[in-house]
Amino acid sequence: MRLYNKPAHVLHDMLVSGEITSVQLTQDVLARIDEVEGDVRAYLTLTRDEALAQAKAVDAKIAAGEPISFLEGIPGAIKDNICTKGVKTTCASKILEHFVPPYDATVMTKINKENPVILGKTNMDEFAMGGSTENSGFFPTHNPWNTECVPGGSSGGSAAAVAAGTAIWAIGSDTGGSIRQPASFCGVVGMKPTYGRVSRYGLVAYASSLDQIGPLTRDVTDCAHLLNIISGHDEMDSTSSDVPVPDYTKSLVSDVKGLKIGLPREYFVKGMDPEVEKTVRAAIDQFRSMGAEVVDISLPHTDYAISTYYLIAPAEAATNLERYDGVSYGERVDGEDLVEMMTNTRSELFGEEVKRRIIIGNYALSAGYYDAYYLKAMKVRTLVQQDFTVAFRDVDVIMAPTAPTPAYKIGAMIDDPLQMYLQDACTVPVNLAGLPGISIPCGFSSQNMPIGLQIIGKPLGEETLLRAAYTYEQSQNFHQQMANLGGKEA
Ligand code: GLN
Repeated sequence: MRLYNKPAHVLHDMLVSGEITSVQLTQDVLARIDEVEGDVRAYLTLTRDEALAQAKAVDAKIAAGEPISFLEGIPGAIKDNICTKGVKTTCASKILEHFVPPYDATVMTKINKENPVILGKTNMDEFAMGGSTENSGFFPTHNPWNTECVPGGSSGGSAAAVAAGTAIWAIGSDTGGSIRQPASFCGVVGMKPTYGRVSRYGLVAYASSLDQIGPLTRDVTDCAHLLNIISGHDEMDSTSSDVPVPDYTKSLVSDVKGLKIGLPREYFVKGMDPEVEKTVRAAIDQFRSMGAEVVDISLPHTDYAISTYYLIAPAEAATNLERYDGVSYGERVDGEDLVEMMTNTRSELFGEEVKRRIIIGNYALSAGYYDAYYLKAMKVRTLVQQDFTVAFRDVDVIMAPTAPTPAYKIGAMIDDPLQMYLQDACTVPVNLAGLPGISIPCGFSSQNMPIGLQIIGKPLGEETLLRAAYTYEQSQNFHQQMANLGGKEA
């Protein structure tokens, strides 16, 4: 019996009942990695030996009759911008190619307390800048549903690993859609929690006012369990929320009767792939048939969200990335003097997209342009936030596509950054407003590529999102289908 294709909650029950051991499970996932990783390339670092040692320790504990936690003994993967003590954390950048953090991110400390099996670190767009994982400084990741297509990004490695069965669960980060969009492209569940719900301590900063860590999983049940584990206040992150963390598994209730869903007309626009629109509308009809009420709403500043995001995120990125100077962190390319060394280091070791954003960000922040660009963007950000505040006076959740298209071919957009930025239209407003959002599988295109439904919630409204997502999931079986990978499906 193969095990890699089951969600964590099923595997947890099998471990508890003694039907399987963690070593068996880990070996099965490692075998899956041997079978398909050459085609998918989700991992930058694999920690096989450590993984098996962790599995053995869990089995010894079970054999001794000790109780185990939800994630205990279950293999997962971590995006490579989350600091893992003693394990390379490169952000898929040549500038951090050999960086080994001396400390764990707070999410890692929380996850490690559960004794999971960590398989390794996943590929991403360099410093999380991108939406296809093609901006990795090392190699692109391929979509398990069609290896000629991108897995989305920037958490493309994490999403592809969960979709391919080369990890049971994964952790990603989302600054403008980087958990939700790859989840949509790869047919898995991905949640960006409310800004501040999960500590950012040890997440290598891209745009600090937008970044948030979250889970990528096979189904909504696993998502709720992971959210329980990673959420909570942290003294090391002054932006983390001190609102107590509820038990998110209590939201795994199949009931949307009376739930009021808003459909923002600005998210259903021309230019959207007709198959995406049809599939998402069918999912919303399904909510209606289960007793939810659906109303049209307007988020009038949506059109400005992309321009706003692509000023604020690069401005913060330009500032955050100042630290890679060939001295404080990471690699160095020598030069005649200090200035030349720094110039060489940054010119040669940052990729094109990262340099583009540093230039845009510094421009937007420079004296003379600050008021016209950065300050203006901050004002528009407030308007985007207010749109949601007004809409949520009347509705419980907002539903929309996660991405305007299914996964596209590798290389199709890489030379057209503006086109690439436009792909983020449905996800960036949620980060600008700091709201929680989840993407769940809701069907397939005629090319058999997954399509995601996005559910957006009120601040700290994760419970409502999970209940809605769970109810929908119970009504269909999209989440149970796994990528075929050229017949390599067991
Ligand atoms: N695609 C967006 C960007 O390139 C979002 C990335 C992210 O969420 N990290 O910035």
